[in-house]
Amino acid sequence: GGPSSRGLLDGLDPEQRAAAEHPDGPLLIVAGPGTGKTRTLTRRIAHKVAERGLAPERCLAITFTRRAAAELRERLEDLLGAHAEQVTVTTFHGLGLAVLREQHERAGLTERFGVADADRALEVAAGVAGSEKAGRELLARRDAPARAGEADEEVEAYRKRLRERDLVDFADLVALPVRLLSEDPLLAEAYRRRWTSVSVDEYQDVDGAQYALLRLLSGPQGDITAIGDPDQAIYRFRGADVAHFLRFEQDHPGAPAVRLSRNYRSNATIVDAAVAAIAPGSLVPGRELRAVGDFSDPPRIGLHTAADERAEASFIARAIDRLLGGTSLHSLDSGRSDGEGEELSFADLCVLYRTSAQAEAVMAAFDAAGVPFQKRTHDRLSARPGVRALAAELPLTPGDAVADRVRAAAGALAGRHSADEEAATAVRTAGELLLPLARRCGGDLERFLAELALGAEVDALDPRADRVSLLTLHAAKGLEFPVVFLAGCEDGVLPFRFPGSGRDPEAEAEERRLFFVGLTRAQRRLYLSRARRRTRRGSAADSAPSPFLAAVPEELTMPVDEESAARRRPKDRQLRLM
Ligand code: ATP
Ligand code: MG
Repeated sequence: GGPSSRGLLDGLDPEQRAAAEHPDGPLLIVAGPGTGKTRTLTRRIAHKVAERGLAPERCLAITFTRRAAAELRERLEDLLGAHAEQVTVTTFHGLGLAVLREQHERAGLTERFGVADADRALEVAAGVAGSEKAGRELLARRDAPARAGEADEEVEAYRKRLRERDLVDFADLVALPVRLLSEDPLLAEAYRRRWTSVSVDEYQDVDGAQYALLRLLSGPQGDITAIGDPDQAIYRFRGADVAHFLRFEQDHPGAPAVRLSRNYRSNATIVDAAVAAIAPGSLVPGRELRAVGDFSDPPRIGLHTAADERAEASFIARAIDRLLGGTSLHSLDSGRSDGEGEELSFADLCVLYRTSAQAEAVMAAFDAAGVPFQKRTHDRLSARPGVRALAAELPLTPGDAVADRVRAAAGALAGRHSADEEAATAVRTAGELLLPLARRCGGDLERFLAELALGAEVDALDPRADRVSLLTLHAAKGLEFPVVFLAGCEDGVLPFRFPGSGRDPEAEAEERRLFFVGLTRAQRRLYLSRARRRTRRGSAADSAPSPFLAAVPEELTMPVDEESAARRRPKDRQLRLM
C-alpha cells in the first residue's frame, strides 16, 4: 500500500526536517523570507500522508493566491503522486466557495448562486444607497468592524438585495461560512472531521473573518500548522491583522514554535541589506537570518538616482539590456562580468513598484527598447475589459460545455466589433487563460463565472514566458527572481502617502515591511532606483529619497548612475556590474 516515502524529506536541512516531522497538533513555523517555509510546509503534508497514514482527503492546505495553490498542488503531486489529488489545496475564498456550495440552502441561496465581483457589488450597493458615491461608502462600512449594538440598515438592505439576486460578494465567501459554522456546532464538527489536518501558508496576513473560519475548522488542540513571517505582513489595508499570528501560542496553549534561520534564496549582500532594512521596525525580536546559498563574491546592491520617472525607466531598460549581454549600453563600457558565469534571460528579471501607476513609464521604456514584459497586478481577472465583455456575452451563447460557450462568445464579440480593442482582448484572453479554466469547469457555467470572479491576475501569469515580470510589491509575495529592480524608492512613494497627507507611523511600519518583501525577492542582484522629480496624479513635484534607503548599509551598496560611477576608482570591480 501507500505512497512511497523514500526521499520525502531529502533536500531539507535539519531545522526544516524537524519542522516537517514535528508530531501532529498545533505548530507555528515562524521564519524569514527564503528560509524554505513553503517548501517545508509541502514536505510536512506529504510526510503526514506517506508516513503517518493520514488519509489525503483529510488534509486542507490554504494558500494566499490561486497561483500558490497550483504550485503547492504540483509539488505535492511530485511527492505523493495520485494521492495529491485528494488533498484540498485552496485559497480562503476558494474554501468559502466550496463550503457555500455544499451549504447553500442554509445561506438562503440556490445551488447555482453566483459571486458578485467588485463592480457588481458596487452596482447593488449604489442601488440601495441611491448613488455610486453613497454605494462606495456603504461597502466601506460593510467591511469595517461592526460597532456593538449598532445595526446598519443600509448594509442589511444591501445584503438582502444580493440574496434576492442569488449572489454573494467576496466578503460573504468567508463571512457566510463563519456564520453557518458558528450557528451550528454540529456542522462545524462535521467539517472538523472532514479536514483533520489544516495548514496555512502566509499566516501573517489572515484577516478577522479568515481567522474566525480557521478557529471553527480547527480546535485549540487540532492538527494545525501555521506558517508565516510577521515582518512580511503587508495586507493591513485589506483588513489583515498580524495580531492573529502573534496570538497563535495563546490560541493553542503549549503549541511549539519552530524557527528557520537559513536563507537559501538570496546571496549574503541581499540578506544582510534586508535584515538591516527591517531592523528598525521588526516584529520578530532576535530574528536570525543568514544566507547559505552557494554564492561567491556577490555583487553590491546597485543604487540609481534618475532625473524623473522616465529616466528611471530607461535606466532599467538599459540595465536589462546590459545584463542580458546587449550592446546598447555604452556608458559603463566593459563586458558583463560578474564572476558567477550566469546566463540570464528575461524571465529571470522583475521590476517591482509600490503603485501600479508606476508601471506606465516602465512599459513605455520597455516598448521603446524592445524589452518583452508581462505585467502582474493584484487586480481581479474580472476587472479586465476583455474578460468582462466575454463574461457578459457568455449567458447568451448556446452550447453545453463551458469551453464551447467561451469560444462561441469570443467569436461573437470578434464578429460584432472587429476593430474594437475590447473585443480583441476578449478573444486573446479566451485563448490564453480562459479556455483551460473553462475546460476544467465542464458544463458548469455558474462555476466558471464564479472562478472567473475569484481569479486574480497574478494567477494568470505564464511563468514560462521569456518576459520581464512587472509587478506591484503586494503581488510579489512568496515569489523569487534572480534579478530584481525595485523602482521608486522615494519618500511618499515607498513609503506611500497620498499627496498632501501627513505621516502615519503604523502605515509607515507596513510600508517598511513592503520594502523588506521587495528586497527579499532577489536571489542574485538587486537594484534600487529613485527619481528626483516625479509626476503623480498629473502634477510634477520634487521627490526625496525613501527614508528606508538610509537603513541599508552603505558598504553593501554601489551607485550605478553614470555621474557617480565616473568618480569612483576604475579598479573597483563592482563598477562594471551596473
Ligand atoms: P517567503 O517568505 O518569501 O515566502 P519561504 O520561506 O516560503 O519564502 P521558499 O520559497 O520555500 O521560502 O524557499 C526559498 C527558496 O529556497 C526556494 O527556491 C527553495 O527551493 C529554496 N530552498 C528552501 N530550502 C532549501 C534547502 N534546504 N536546500 C536548497 N534549497 C532550498
Ligand atoms: Mg513562502
